Amino acid sequence: MPNLRKVLSGDLDKLFDEDKALQRPEVQKRILVTGGAGFLGSHLCEVLLEAGHQVICADNFSTGLHQNVEHLARFDGFSLIAHDVVEPIDLDVDEIYNLACPASPPHYQADPVHTTKTCVLGALNMLELAARHGARIFQASTSEIYGDPQVHPQVETYRGNVNPFGPRACYDEGKRCAETLFFDFNRARHVEIKVVRIFNTYGPRMRPDDGRVVSNFIVQALKGEDITIYGDGSQTRSFCFVDDLIDGFIRVMASPASVTGPINLGNPAEFTIGELAEQVIELTGSRSQIVHRPLPVDDPRQRRPDISLAERELGWRPSVDLSAGLAQTIGHFDALLTRPDSELMEVA
Ligand code: NAD
Ligand code: UDP
Repeated sequence: MPNLRKVLSGDLDKLFDEDKALQRPEVQKRILVTGGAGFLGSHLCEVLLEAGHQVICADNFSTGLHQNVEHLARFDGFSLIAHDVVEPIDLDVDEIYNLACPASPPHYQADPVHTTKTCVLGALNMLELAARHGARIFQASTSEIYGDPQVHPQVETYRGNVNPFGPRACYDEGKRCAETLFFDFNRARHVEIKVVRIFNTYGPRMRPDDGRVVSNFIVQALKGEDITIYGDGSQTRSFCFVDDLIDGFIRVMASPASVTGPINLGNPAEFTIGELAEQVIELTGSRSQIVHRPLPVDDPRQRRPDISLAERELGWRPSVDLSAGLAQTIGHFDALLTRPDSELMEVA
């Protein structure tokens, strides 16, 4: 990684004094993206850099990959910091996108205490940073706020049905507490906040070992392995393609200060997991067989966003349908699995 500036957080002040590329031109914003080397974060960094902004990507590389951001070294305004958001940091920034947190159930359950710390202390540290520098701050919240929902589709006013001590709680309750912190900083310290509840999003740059359903099914289909449906496959999810979601992020950040959220972002087209498996088999032309495995504890039965608030406040609606998005994602995994030098081959 010779082209990327990778520094420890303690060296930051020195770096900003010395590095011309990190000085802020008047028309550009200096934007911190935590979790920027992950799936969503790397797409966001790319879009912000293409718009001419300076982007500081801070990541602890627990699930993120250098490979996701390597190509961003061509932008002068890009810098990469190895940093864990559970530790405080000081940077002079105009905007913060707080995305740092593993999102896949097997990943966030691997070290649940660190997941809670990432959600809660990460949010606190980023909010303190925003308060100190007058920065606007975006929180990647989640449809998991609704838990196993008893209201369908999910509207932002629904308060959810979350098990506070189950295996998903480190993530669900961590993200709920993060929302609490965001709104308290907004009320008490006048920090400009944007809280977005993201529904299942997929696309290129997901890891083959991510563990979420879209990447699992595509990798299994491409390898000709059994496709593992958990439970009977009648549970539903609504799948949003990454480009649509990132467009929503940008619109939220640019919205008037009065738009704080929480605001749902997701694709309202709802599919059973069985239907998803059939689509993946059809699009890959795979001979994989479907097998059933036990349903994980507290697995939500259904999930579909009501996006009327996003439509009204942001003029946002997803445009990529599932088969088009899956085709692009299949192309990504197909290329990845045939690239012997890929960092991801180590985990495939
Ligand atoms: P991801 O696992 O690909 O990315 C998470 C990134 O955060 C990784 O680069 C990881 O290394 C980094 N990270 C994790 N803990 C960290 C810490 N303590 N300090 C610094 N960096 C840390 O997941 P993703 O799908 O890109 O999700 C990004 C964000 O969006 C997460 O906050 C997630 O909760 C939220 N979200 C995603 C989805 C989705 O469907 N993709 C749905 C709901 C919410
Ligand atoms: N799932 C599945 N097979 C897999 C991975 C997941 O059937 O290989 C199911 C999982 O039980 C859940 C749905 O797919 O019902 C979505 O799971 P994912 O982990 O992608 O997201 P989340 O449960 O957090 O919405």
